[in-house]
Amino acid sequence: MVLELLWDEKDHLSARDIFERLNAKGRNIGHTSVYQNLEALQSAGVIECLDRANGRLYGYRSDPHSHLTCLDSGSIQDLDVELPEALLNQIEAQTGFRIESYTLSLSGRRH
Ligand SMILES: [Zn+2]
Repeated sequence: MVLELLWDEKDHLSARDIFERLNAKGRNIGHTSVYQNLEALQSAGVIECLDRANGRLYGYRSDPHSHLTCLDSGSIQDLDVELPEALLNQIEAQTGFRIESYTLSLSGRRH
C-alpha cells in the first residue's frame, strides 16, 4: 500500500502525509506500520529518503536523480539532469576520481 501510494503520487511525501493519504483512501493502516514499511523499503533501496530541515521525505525513485525545490511552496520535483561531458572530465581531473553518479539540488521560484 505504501509503495503503491508513492508510485501513484510521484511526489516526495513525509511519513505523516503517507499515513493521512492512505487513511483518506479508506486504507486502514497505523502510523507505526507506515514508518516500519518506509524503513524497510528504504533499506532495501526501493525508495529514496531525503533529509530536510522539516523532516524526512520519501520518494518512489531510487536511481540517482536531481531535485528542484520550489522556494515558495517547498514542493520537490524529480529532475534528470545530465552534466556536460567536459565538466565531468574537469571534475575528474581535479579530484582524481572517476565520477559514477551525481545528484544536483536546485532551488528556485516559478516566474
Ligand atoms: Zn526524488
